[in-house]
Amino acid sequence: MHLIIAEKNISANRIAQILAGNEKVRATKDGSVSAYSFDTKTVVGLKGHVVEVDFEPGYTNWRSETHTPRTLIDAGIIKKPTEKKIVNLIQKLSKKADLVTIATDYDTEGELIGKEAYELVRAVNPNVRINRARFSAITPAEIRTAFENLTDLDFDLAAAGEARQTVDLMWGAALTRFISLAARRGGTNILSVGRVQSPTLAMIVEREREIESFVPQTYWMLSLDTEKDGVTIEARHTAGRFTDHEAALAAEAGTKEPLVVTDVKEGQKTDRAPTPFDTTTFIVAASRLGLSAANAMRIAEDLYMNGYISYPRTDNTVYPKSLNLNAILNTLKGGVFDKDVAWVQQNRRPVPTRGKKESTDHPPIHPTGSATREALGQDRWKVYELVVRRFLATLSPDANWATTRCTFDASGESYKATGGRLLYAGWRRIYPYSEAKENILPVLAPGERLPIKKVNLEEKETQPPARYSQSRLIQVMEELGLGTKSTRHEVIGKLVSRRYVEGNPLRPTLVGRAVIDALDNHAETITEPEMTRTLEEHMQLIKQSRRSRDDVVTESREMLHRVFDKLEAHKSEIGTEIMEQTAEEHTLGPCPACGHDLRIRHIGVSQFIGCTGYPECRFNISLPGSTWGKAIRVEATCPEHNLSHVRLIRKGARPWDIGCPLCSHIASNVEALRMMPSMTDDLMQRLHAHHIYTVSEIAGMQPEDLAKAVDVEKKEAAELAREAEDALEVLRRRSELRKFVRKIVPPRKGRSHAKIIRNLLEQGIGDIHALSLADVAAIKKAGIPEATGTELLDAARGLCNERALREAGVPAVSLKKYQAGGVATPDDFCYLPIPYLASKTGINPETVHKHVDLVCRHLGRPAPQKISRTVFERGRKELLEVPGLGEATVDRLYLAGIYDAATLRVADPEKVSSITGIPKARLRDYIGHLK
Ligand SMILES: [Zn+2]
Ligand SMILES: [Zn+2]
Repeated sequence: MHLIIAEKNISANRIAQILAGNEKVRATKDGSVSAYSFDTKTVVGLKGHVVEVDFEPGYTNWRSETHTPRTLIDAGIIKKPTEKKIVNLIQKLSKKADLVTIATDYDTEGELIGKEAYELVRAVNPNVRINRARFSAITPAEIRTAFENLTDLDFDLAAAGEARQTVDLMWGAALTRFISLAARRGGTNILSVGRVQSPTLAMIVEREREIESFVPQTYWMLSLDTEKDGVTIEARHTAGRFTDHEAALAAEAGTKEPLVVTDVKEGQKTDRAPTPFDTTTFIVAASRLGLSAANAMRIAEDLYMNGYISYPRTDNTVYPKSLNLNAILNTLKGGVFDKDVAWVQQNRRPVPTRGKKESTDHPPIHPTGSATREALGQDRWKVYELVVRRFLATLSPDANWATTRCTFDASGESYKATGGRLLYAGWRRIYPYSEAKENILPVLAPGERLPIKKVNLEEKETQPPARYSQSRLIQVMEELGLGTKSTRHEVIGKLVSRRYVEGNPLRPTLVGRAVIDALDNHAETITEPEMTRTLEEHMQLIKQSRRSRDDVVTESREMLHRVFDKLEAHKSEIGTEIMEQTAEEHTLGPCPACGHDLRIRHIGVSQFIGCTGYPECRFNISLPGSTWGKAIRVEATCPEHNLSHVRLIRKGARPWDIGCPLCSHIASNVEALRMMPSMTDDLMQRLHAHHIYTVSEIAGMQPEDLAKAVDVEKKEAAELAREAEDALEVLRRRSELRKFVRKIVPPRKGRSHAKIIRNLLEQGIGDIHALSLADVAAIKKAGIPEATGTELLDAARGLCNERALREAGVPAVSLKKYQAGGVATPDDFCYLPIPYLASKTGINPETVHKHVDLVCRHLGRPAPQKISRTVFERGRKELLEVPGLGEATVDRLYLAGIYDAATLRVADPEKVSSITGIPKARLRDYIGHLK
């Protein structure tokens, strides 16, 4: 069997379809992992990395005395599977394979993923031949060529990837742990530090500092409007920016007619067609279409996997000779781009454009298949069209502009105007993404006199440097050698998700700045691009077999030890600096009760807003638990309360905006306050004025304090407190009902629990007891389907019965035995005979009597006669002695209250038969025997 291992499931499927040709591919599943077989071949897809590197066991405790953050530098590193099912399937198939081909993506990461697969195969089959297929697009031609020219795995390339993996783990884990511990942060609040991440963040912080320290300079621009043949011409003073106001005013005053054309220069300008896309230029172009870097790459990878475009991670901007450009044009023919392709074929430039970077691993990004808008959907089509149009543009002729430069003299002040006219659109016909603005000047001749229509002196200010957009940052990272084409956009994504930066353009958060400031002050190596760039260079050397992986990792370990020398010496300062700077991050504004700061507090999974004046001020606002999302402060401020807005954020979920915490607190408690019968608008206003917002606050207050606060008699205040207690009780039951419903009715799209509860309340069902008395029709009306409704009612009834029995005094342990015996309701206790209950549950009849007595008393009903254990056991024996009367019949007789010879002898066969189902004749028989 020939096992082929691809990078992802989707590429495995495509590769199988291509290699199978006309043969049918059988798709099978093994533990939810797909495999595609034909002929003697089976193709399986990985999920990128299926193993990860981690420290050997023993390093999980952050606060360990022996395994300090520094010890992570030299800790042993192991590989462990992250996708067990895939690993299992690969190894199962490897045992049977006589040839294995690694067909992962063709770059460092892909080679490393390939090597991981190689090791998985080798572990179970040491002798099987393993080779490698390399391709840049998942198209029939590329895949077939790759499989006809199989090579070997490039272990040097993989080793470069491994070195990076190890170094990243070691730097990231050791530094993250150190900084987090120093700043006393744990759990979801850790401060992550990373080899590429930190220098990137440092650039964003640095830019923000430049912006803040920027002092704008005032300058003046002078221009005039003139006119010829009804066309306005704007000419600018040749001095450009005036930094001296006096000089600008003098030049303005000196600008007088006659305005004479002194020189006219006509020329032509070539507007070169754009160069082929590498990853960075692609991301920049996609960002103009409104796509973030991460989004653009995700879509591009998806298009690659599906055979629409070539591999999107490439540093190459020169088409290799081997790339068949004609074939690509033919592929695009007949589709949406038919007219454009025909034009390019007729007007094609002799040689395609080429960029500055040429590498051999992958060609620049280009289309590999034709597609339709309908098949791709909006965003994927946007990206695909961009790639197609860029490709076509690189084969199109340059555009051509006619240019005019004109100089004027206005009584000694010189001005100039420039014009441009598109002579030949060339590539611009195909590629509409960059705008070409024409400015056509009328025909002018030297010596010509023109009127001055207007003189404009504009005051302007120099602008601070702009914040980085995501795509600009990626360009700068590339220039500085930070990260790789595959990782740059991911690094930015991490900075955003770790809340070190926000917005686009990117702005550092308070935490982001605090971490960088602390590192800058004590271990600048971590924030400077130098160290990261050195590693990238070392990786190149590993790829060229000029250095070994271990050698590079060792050097990096030494570097990190030197960093720790500095860090450990200043641990407490670093911690204090970060903590002082980030305290503000949780501060929301003034407490309405006392004026101290309100602050978001996190304690385990619970979070709330508390006053820094605690314990003197006990004002606080509760927040949903952090499982709903971690509470953070956002930029907006409530104009009424002067408090920052709060948002709950959770990975993979849309953020939940709480807005002003106090407004939200007030609004969510108004309904509850209105449940108090004596509540009026006026009273509520007086309560709010004293910062009393909830019924529980009212219930918890001393009557005299409450009386003083809202200016009422003490008696009235006591009544208010009582009403608040009642409201609280209703709310408690309502919340219990909500939890109960949520447990049984699964959440589904378009069926919110809040809506269900609202509907139930409208029908007067406000707690579990009311629910247990409701009928299915009412539940259905609340939006719950009948089957679920029946289940809900049964559960509510069960719970209420159980509660009633517990209330009556039946102990929990016995209650379980009754329930197991099918005895569930208080009525069961009152109406079923004691012998029956005892035999059904195995509980001693004397104990049963005690329980029955409790329940009957509780319900105000008479209790039955006690039966002692001896009587019960003797009676059973007596009954079993009656010929033809067995155990099963005895149990049925209990139901009719018959438990011994005496009770059977006086029984009415008619009545007993109707209760027990035992035929009358047989009963008469039994009774006959006794007489
Ligand atoms: Zn306070
Ligand atoms: Zn507010």
